[in-house]
Amino acid sequence: MNKTLITCAITGAETTRGDNPNLPVSPEEIASASYDAFLAGASILHLHVRDDDGNPTQDVPIFKKTIDLVRKKCNIVIEVTTGGAVGMNLKERLQPLQLKPDMASLDCGTCNFGDDYILNTLPMIREAAMAMKEYGVRPTLECFDLSHIDTSRVLIREGLLEPPFHYGFVLNVPGGIQYNAETLGIFTRRIPEGSYWTAMGIGGKANLDAIYGAIAHHGFIRVGFEDNVYYDRGILADSNAQLVERAADIARNAGCSIATADDVREMLALEQ
Ligand code: ZN
Repeated sequence: MNKTLITCAITGAETTRGDNPNLPVSPEEIASASYDAFLAGASILHLHVRDDDGNPTQDVPIFKKTIDLVRKKCNIVIEVTTGGAVGMNLKERLQPLQLKPDMASLDCGTCNFGDDYILNTLPMIREAAMAMKEYGVRPTLECFDLSHIDTSRVLIREGLLEPPFHYGFVLNVPGGIQYNAETLGIFTRRIPEGSYWTAMGIGGKANLDAIYGAIAHHGFIRVGFEDNVYYDRGILADSNAQLVERAADIARNAGCSIATADDVREMLALEQ
């Protein structure tokens, strides 16, 4: 039986309470939503945090407080963002690595982002990969475009990344590559053999399409308010857990079992 891994991106950097009033913002709310998502079948928490005003921050004490609260509730694998938010510099973005989380996102290239852009030059990507290596943190290699996979291969050749590799295909960011089944197939064939991957469809339609696409190609799934705030067309999701629950149902109906946090630790050889 295939095992499907579900990541939940609980809060993100750009989503606001105006987009969905159920967005968890404080460390307590994020921890509680993460626990509910864990109970619904999520085994990786993709974590962004916010300051007291609800703005995205890479502040270490806020990350620490949130991680400690999550840890008290469950053993979900914690992946911190190093993408941060638009406009943050690299030093700021890498700060939460000091806490030695299980995993971290590693953006593998520059991408337009609406009218803005997400900057990741090769030296910046190298620096981020080196920091993750130093702290023993497994990266999720986030690719917003096909060329980002080629960039990840440069880092592999340079010895900055070690297997097992876990890719995150970020599909449908406004400015990045759009989701369709054919594109997903090309991504899956382009990564090094034996790599794991998670499809991240941004926006309601792409998110649901990417879930089905990932299952068809034996990949993993990401859901959560960072990527999509809707349950159905025009209907907001009640919670992150509701989105995880649906993804888990779809996977089970396709004959997959849902990976536990311990499965993920073993699969991705995470440091204990
Ligand atoms: Zn993120």
